[in-house]
Amino acid sequence: MPREEFSSKVKEALAKRVAQKCSNPSCRSVTSGPHSESDRFVNVGVASHITAAAHGGPRYEASISAEYRGSIENAIWLCQTCAKMIDNDPERYTVHLLRSWKVSAEAQALRALEGDPDSDYFPQPASAIHTPIPRIAGLTYDDAREKLLQAGWQPRNNHWSYAGNPNIQYGNGRHFWEMGYHEITHASGTGLAHCTFGFQDAYGNRLMVVTAGEVIDELNATAHVWNWFFDAIT
Ligand SMILES: [Zn+2]
Repeated sequence: MPREEFSSKVKEALAKRVAQKCSNPSCRSVTSGPHSESDRFVNVGVASHITAAAHGGPRYEASISAEYRGSIENAIWLCQTCAKMIDNDPERYTVHLLRSWKVSAEAQALRALEGDPDSDYFPQPASAIHTPIPRIAGLTYDDAREKLLQAGWQPRNNHWSYAGNPNIQYGNGRHFWEMGYHEITHASGTGLAHCTFGFQDAYGNRLMVVTAGEVIDELNATAHVWNWFFDAIT
C-alpha cells in the first residue's frame, strides 16, 4: 500500500489558509518564523492526515480513494506537538473532531484577515461544524441580521405567497415582512411579541433567531434579539 503524501502545493495552501497557525483551537501556536540566516525561515508546522496516509495508520479509511487521501480535504495544519498528539490517540482525535478544528481555524483566520475581532463571536465548542455565530443577543433585529449575513449565514426566505400566512400576520410579523425580511417564520401578537427568523449556513445547519418587543415607530421602539438556537436539520 502506498503512502499518500501531500504535495508542496497542498501544504502551502493548507498552512496559509489558517495564517500558518496550528489548527488545534486550544493551541493556535505560530508555526513559522525567521531563521538565523537572513534569507531562510523556520517551519514547525505539519500537514497532518485526517485519515491516514496508508493502511494501518491513524483514522485510516479503506473506502476513500488514494486521490482524496492525498488531497487538501484530507489535510489539517498543526504544530509538531499537536500533529504527534492526534496520531498517538486517534480514538480521542476523531475525523469529526479534526474536521471541526479545521473549519474553525479557517473561519478564525478569515475573520482576522477581514479585521473582525474574534471577541464579537460566541466561542465555539470544539465539536461544532458551523459558521460562527456573532454575538447578537440584545441587538436590534436589523443589526443582528446584518452581522449574521456578514458571518456567512443566509436567510431562509419564504415564498412571497407566505405573506398572507396567519403565522406571520400577528404582532410585528407584517412589519418585518414588509422590510423584506422574508426569513420570518413565526410572529406572536401577545406577551413579548416574539418573532422567529430562520437562517442556514454552507454546512446545512439551521439557526433560528427569536426577537422580543414590539416595533412602534412613533415610540422608537424596536424588537431585540432574545434568543437563538440550532434547529434540527430536516
Ligand atoms: Zn498545536
